[in-house]
Amino acid sequence: MSDSFVVFGAPVLEQEEIDAVVETMRSGWIGSGPRSAAFEDAFSDFKGGSGYPVALNSCTAALHISLIAADLSDGDEVITTPLTFCATVNAILHAGLKPVLADIDGETLNICPREIESKITENTRAILLVHFAGRPCEMDAIMDIARRHDLIVIEDCAHAIETTYRNQPAGTFGDFSCFSFYVTKNITTAEGGMILCRNEADAARCRVLALHGMSKDAWKRFSDEGYKHYQVIERGFKYNMTDIQAAIGIEQLKKINRFRAARESIWYQYSSAFANLPIVLPAPIEEDMEHAYHLYTIQLDKEVCGISRDDFLMAMTKAGIGTGVHYTCMAEQPYYQKELGWSPQDTPIGTQVGRQICSLPISAKLSAGDVENVISAVRCILN
Ligand SMILES: *Cc1c(COP(=O)(O)O)cnc(C)c1O
Repeated sequence: MSDSFVVFGAPVLEQEEIDAVVETMRSGWIGSGPRSAAFEDAFSDFKGGSGYPVALNSCTAALHISLIAADLSDGDEVITTPLTFCATVNAILHAGLKPVLADIDGETLNICPREIESKITENTRAILLVHFAGRPCEMDAIMDIARRHDLIVIEDCAHAIETTYRNQPAGTFGDFSCFSFYVTKNITTAEGGMILCRNEADAARCRVLALHGMSKDAWKRFSDEGYKHYQVIERGFKYNMTDIQAAIGIEQLKKINRFRAARESIWYQYSSAFANLPIVLPAPIEEDMEHAYHLYTIQLDKEVCGISRDDFLMAMTKAGIGTGVHYTCMAEQPYYQKELGWSPQDTPIGTQVGRQICSLPISAKLSAGDVENVISAVRCILN
């Protein structure tokens, strides 16, 4: 990679993270242990002390375990958005459930409450929503639907650690909420995730599911408290977070507001620089929400701006700027078409957005010069 290439989603890693990893290694306990527990506490504090956290090795794991702990039956339907990462849909399938897409709102790019309602059948048991790009979903309407139809709500908060909706943090509405600390996310542990459970019993179950289905506190079985027998009480998984990951996470969490402020500043620089270009910018942020500014997405319609999305992506790479596509509509993916019979016209808005959308770099790692380079590349390609 050339030195001047602006990497998409580059993490900010500083001396504190490096020191924390070294200290963890010197401590001799690198698996799940005291630092994972401390990271859980710090994370739940950040969320206002609401909910019961379980640290895991990815958000994908968090989604999978949530769907199992939700105690649904094989074939039950889970309504989700077509504009998401495939992990959201795969987790539903791996839990033995049936994903059903409800189209997005063309403005907010979040799942549309009216579409959710229209997809409810007698087999619907849950809604798995995504706060896309860090913008909160319409939680009043969605929680109302969930109450009326007695549905479990799971929030995919992979973009939305800092998001709030009407002063309530994202991840504190649903029965389960899933967070990601993947490299490109708002804070990172290299790989990592967290479930925030609404109730304590669910969190205890998730903890068991995340460690082979072994009974309570099995991670301590090699500690100085002496060997403890465990019992296998579930068909569990290997999804626990290590203390090396948690050590990075603890330091990253201390910086979360600084990182968000940096992305917010880039967001507004882009929005004013691109205001007159023939492209669709992210919907304006409303007063009753805090946006997490995880993605800055633009939409390119070749008929309007003269260049296709894919040609734009190539031109950006040539200009030394890394970009992303979040996301090609799930109904366009061949596996789901083959196995679930999905087709692009089932969710026309998601399909169109997925064909025209492109994410520009917005990481806190970007220098002022990087941001200027992105702006001039976009302007130059579109002029
Ligand atoms: C990144 C992401 C995931 C998966 O997160 P991992 O931690 O990489 O497993 C799930 N859903 C969405 C919306 C994401 O952006």
